[in-house]
Amino acid sequence: MSGGKGIYVAGHRGMVGAAIVRRLAQEGETEILARTHAELDLTNQAAVHAFFEEHRPGQVYLAAAKVGGIHANNTYPAEFIYDNLMIEANVIQAAFRHGVKRLLFLGSSCIYPRLAEQPMREDALLTNTLEPSNEPYAIAKIAGIKLCESYNRQYGADYRSVMPTNLYGPGDNYHPENSHVIPGLIRRIHEAKMANAPSVTIWGSGTPRREFLFVDDMAAACVHVMNLDRESYAQHTSSMQSHINVGFGGDITIRELAEAIADVIGYGGRFEFDTSKLDGAPRKLMDSSRLQALGWHAETGLEAGLARSYQDFINTHATRS
Ligand code: GDP
Repeated sequence: MSGGKGIYVAGHRGMVGAAIVRRLAQEGETEILARTHAELDLTNQAAVHAFFEEHRPGQVYLAAAKVGGIHANNTYPAEFIYDNLMIEANVIQAAFRHGVKRLLFLGSSCIYPRLAEQPMREDALLTNTLEPSNEPYAIAKIAGIKLCESYNRQYGADYRSVMPTNLYGPGDNYHPENSHVIPGLIRRIHEAKMANAPSVTIWGSGTPRREFLFVDDMAAACVHVMNLDRESYAQHTSSMQSHINVGFGGDITIRELAEAIADVIGYGGRFEFDTSKLDGAPRKLMDSSRLQALGWHAETGLEAGLARSYQDFINTHATRS
């Protein structure tokens, strides 16, 4: 049965899904379908099928996922693998059964081996062992890529996957423990400034290197990849390797990141490194040359992006004194 014209954004309340909806709206898209978690539990297969049966979207952005930083991944591995596997399996299979023409699955740079050659190319997938702290999440995301590829191979579907580097921006989760490093440090450094604290604690050694991409740039990349014609996308991928990297194009150490955040916030205290906390992978820098060859590049520099993130934190979680 063939799909309709609507565009379903799964996960529209999350940071990335919300940015995709903003981007689609900017581009004049009016038929956007969205459901909150309370309205549609994507781990419930019957509910997902009923939704697709009723609404028959033509395109799906699969941005719904259970996500979190290094501590959350290490503490709740069961939810990180189970919820993500269920969401992907239900949405991708229901999409196929109900004639969705094109689907974009969002993964993560942690699908690549812990010690992958840097910058990490798409073909590093499954060449070595993963970083243990987020292995369950990574395995679920690899399964999502393989689901898409399998429907493409067996049935000629056109389901694509994008692997973003570490993302940040408005709508982030600023939870003190479960968040990723940028929102975690925005909160902690802001609180240190408010309390006139002489120092602030950074987890780990400060030496791991990470690449950070502003979420609106990621949303632009998602819409760009979704709208590429099949031949252009196929030139840069294959039926056995359908994913494509989305990175900023440079990385920094966690110490340098903390300094940049302190500058944006206006905090002049010292950093203390708590080496009892995990460092995670030593380096995660994407090779995004395939996507660049397809006409996309990041637009938002780290300083401008951090300023927008801090403003979002102030608007939603704090008051500037
Ligand atoms: P990762 O890229 O999957 O490792 O995820 P994160 O964004 O959670 O962590 C990135 C790096 O930042 C790790 O080396 C952490 O040890 C370090 N880090 C330093 N301070 C924090 C913090 O407050 N929160 C988090 N999540 N990570 C931090």
